[in-house]
Amino acid sequence: MSCLFCKIIAKEIPAKTVYEDETVFAFEDIHPQAPVHILIIPKKHLSTALEIENDDHPLIGHMFQVANRIARDKKVADRGFRLVMNCNRESGQTVFHIHLHLLAGRTMHWPPG
Ligand code: 5GP
Ligand code: ZN
Repeated sequence: MSCLFCKIIAKEIPAKTVYEDETVFAFEDIHPQAPVHILIIPKKHLSTALEIENDDHPLIGHMFQVANRIARDKKVADRGFRLVMNCNRESGQTVFHIHLHLLAGRTMHWPPG
C-alpha cells in the first residue's frame, strides 16, 4: 500500500491522533494553515471525492459528524470553522486519499486563494 494516509491509519507513519473509530480517523495536519488544522479521513481508501458512491453516504455523513464533534471539543464550533475537501489538481489536492480539512481559530477569507 503506497498511500500516505493509509500508512497513517495503519500507524506505520506517526501522526497526532485527534479521533479514531471503526471507520474514521482524524489527526493534526503536519503543516497547519490555522491554529486548528485537523484532517478527517475515512479508513476506506477513496482517492478523490469523485469516487464516492451510494454505499459511502453513511461514511461521508459520519466524517462530517466527527468534524462537528472535534470543532465542539476544540471550542471553535460557535466561533466558526471551515471544512474543505480538495479534489484533483487545480483544487490543490496533494494526497490522494480523501480528507476533510477542519480549519479554525482565525478569521477565514473568501474567496479562498
Ligand atoms: P490536500 O492538499 O491534498 O488537500 O491536503 C493534504 C494535507 O496533508 C496538507 O495540508 C498537508 O500538510 C498534509 N500532510 C501531508 N503529508 C502529511 C503527513 O505526513 N502527516 C500529516 N499529519 N499531514 C500531512
Ligand atoms: Zn489511502
